[in-house]
Amino acid sequence: MSAITRKIALEEHFMMPEFIEYFQKVAANIDPGLYDKAVDVLQDFGERRLAAMDAIGIERAVLSLSGPGVQAEFDTAKAVRLARRANDFLAERLAESPSRYDGFAHLALQEPGAAADELERAVRELGLRGAMINGQTNGAYLDDDRFSVLWERASDLDVPIYIHPYNPPDVPYMYRNHPELWGPLWSWTVETGNHALRILFAGVFDRYPNAKLILGHMGEALPFQLWRFDSRWPISNSGPAALKLKPSEYFKRNFWCTTAGVCSDASLRCAIDALGADRVMFSVDYPFERPAVAGEWIDAAPLTDEERAKVCSENAKSLLKL
Ligand code: MN
Repeated sequence: MSAITRKIALEEHFMMPEFIEYFQKVAANIDPGLYDKAVDVLQDFGERRLAAMDAIGIERAVLSLSGPGVQAEFDTAKAVRLARRANDFLAERLAESPSRYDGFAHLALQEPGAAADELERAVRELGLRGAMINGQTNGAYLDDDRFSVLWERASDLDVPIYIHPYNPPDVPYMYRNHPELWGPLWSWTVETGNHALRILFAGVFDRYPNAKLILGHMGEALPFQLWRFDSRWPISNSGPAALKLKPSEYFKRNFWCTTAGVCSDASLRCAIDALGADRVMFSVDYPFERPAVAGEWIDAAPLTDEERAKVCSENAKSLLKL
C-alpha cells in the first residue's frame, strides 16, 4: 500500500435547495439510483464530506455548485439573482470550515457584464478562487465576443475559469438511438472539448494572454490530440495567420486540467507529457467518482515524488493562490 499524499481537490460539487430543479436536468444523463443518492450527498458540508476527504488525504476541497445551475435558466433576472444567492450560500459554508474548503463562483452568463461584476464580487468580497462554468448558456459559448468582458475581468483578477461539462443546446443526430452516449460516458467530453477549442481558435488567448482555463476529466481528451491540432491547423480552412501561436502553445500557456473522474495511469501520463507537470491537478469529482478510487489511484500512480506533489497539491496552490 502506498503512502497517502496530502491533497487539494478542485472539482468537488455541492447542491442547495433552490438549484435542485436545474440539477434534475442531468438526471437523464446518469443512473437514476446514483442521481437520487447524489442530491442528498451533495448537500452535506459536514461529517460525511470531511470524512471522505480525510480518508484519502484531501486537506482542502474547492467546492462548486453541481451543474447546470442557472445556466439552464431562460429568465435573465432570475439567473442573475440566483447566481448571487449561490455564491453567498457557498461563502457561508466556507466560513464554517475555512481550513478545509474553498470555492468557485457560479455565474449567470445570460448577462455578461453582470457575470463579470459577480465574479469580481465573489473573488474580492467572498474570497472565491475563480468561476466554474457549466458549458453553454442558452446556446452561447465563451468564445462569443459578448463574453470579452468576462475574460478581461478574470484576467485582471488573475483567477481561472473552469469549464465543466453539460449538454449542448440540441441533441445531435450522431447520438440517435444511443442514450448511453448522452452524458458523461461520451457526449460531455465532445461538448466540453469542443467548447475549449472554440475559445482557443477564436483567439481569446491572444486577446487575453493571461487568461487561465481549467478543464476536468484529464483535459476532456484534448491533451491526446495536441500534435494533430498543430499539424492540421496550418492546412485548415482558416489558416495559421488567425492565431499568434500554435494551438499546442496555448495549451501549455493558458490551460490546466484536473484528474476529476479519470483514474487512469495512461491518461495521466499523457496529460503530464503533453501539458507539463505544472498543469495537471488532482480532483475527485465528488460525489460522482468515489474518493477512495481516486485517492488510492493517485497515491500509487507511476509519478516521481516531485510530480506527485505537484499534481496532488502544489499546482492547485499556486494557480488558486491557496
Ligand atoms: Mn463534475
